[in-house]
Amino acid sequence: MTNLYLNKGKEESLRRYHPWVFSGAVHHIEGEPKEGDFVRVLTHDGTFIAVGHWQIGSIAVRVLSFLDEEINHQFWTNKLATAYEMRKAIGVANNPQNSTYRLVHGEGDNLPGLVVDMYGETAVMQAHSVGMHNNRMDIAKALKDVMGEKLQNIYYKSETTLPYKADLGQENGFILGSTPDDVATENGLRFHIDWLKGQKTGFFVDQRDNRSLVEYYAKDRNVLNMFCYTGGFSVYAMRGGARLVHSVDSSQKAVDLVNANVGLNFPNDARHKAFAEDAFKFLDQMKASYDLIILDPPAFAKHRDAVRHAIKGYTRLNARAMEKIKSGGILFTFSCSQAISKEQFRMAVFTAATLAKRQVRILHQLHQPADHPVNIYHPEGEYLKGLVLYVE
Ligand code: SAH
Repeated sequence: MTNLYLNKGKEESLRRYHPWVFSGAVHHIEGEPKEGDFVRVLTHDGTFIAVGHWQIGSIAVRVLSFLDEEINHQFWTNKLATAYEMRKAIGVANNPQNSTYRLVHGEGDNLPGLVVDMYGETAVMQAHSVGMHNNRMDIAKALKDVMGEKLQNIYYKSETTLPYKADLGQENGFILGSTPDDVATENGLRFHIDWLKGQKTGFFVDQRDNRSLVEYYAKDRNVLNMFCYTGGFSVYAMRGGARLVHSVDSSQKAVDLVNANVGLNFPNDARHKAFAEDAFKFLDQMKASYDLIILDPPAFAKHRDAVRHAIKGYTRLNARAMEKIKSGGILFTFSCSQAISKEQFRMAVFTAATLAKRQVRILHQLHQPADHPVNIYHPEGEYLKGLVLYVE
């Protein structure tokens, strides 16, 4: 394995188990590793620190282990078994009511650059680094060994998540089995998962707990699910006894998906309607007839530089919803931008409340669920934040 030497003193964060080496910390590398190769990270004077995947960019190494070990079948098997055990322990795996969960959450499972979501007997695997892409077959084999009969298919879906410049020519497709059955259950509700063409791995698994809270508050309310995508929140609101549910997304494909998913659980239920419409346009034109609104927009800030612009976007969006929500209404508002902190998001919503001139109380502060764990040494892993507000 190639040795990489750090600049003097640059091992500090690694000694606290932070899993990244930034390129500025690198003194020199022996030989010429290719992107995605394994490297051993050493201090300036040659003391071993970690093993990881070498990559090109501001993060030079993503650490796989702080032990001086080989990354082999046993390594992948141990890591995946640990992740699977945890999902069983928290009740999302091996649960007859729930077959949709995140099995591997990158740094949160000490596997930086790897995401695996489970939908019934199908795993959708996503590599965010060239190293994980190179190791995908070894990982798939270990995954099958760990899960046995519970896993029949693995769909590899990394076309949009790998560095474009790496030019890997990878294609999405099944690397184990194949199945036309695309229905999975979440808390007893059924959903079509579009792993072939859908966003992310085909479904937003990270809103499971927050959808349950929407179900809890939905009774007898007029619900607006803005940025609905596959309609997770809509279906839960219907089970919760909403009076009506309106789902809005700018993409017609999303509108087709939400209609299919509502139909799967509540066939011919006239309470639901979906609209292919821009969020701001819909909010501007709608009547003030909703008393439960969900705002779950796409990440407004994908990078640090976009933060200021994104904060304005969150403010504008939330102000519109607060102006229009009925008195006594409940607003669920989210940000999934990693670059926006909890405090920044809360400040944006605070500004929105002052613009809308409404009395607003925070009922709940929401975050990602337990199958998207945050590695305590990698606080950057905390990305999903939400507020549930009571608007007087
Ligand atoms: N709430 C969803 C996930 C939302 S993903 C869930 O629980 O699964 C974000 C969605 O916002 C995407 O489906 C995208 O098509 C939609 N979107 C993006 N920009 C939009 C806009 N300006 N108006 C309405 N929808 C938009």
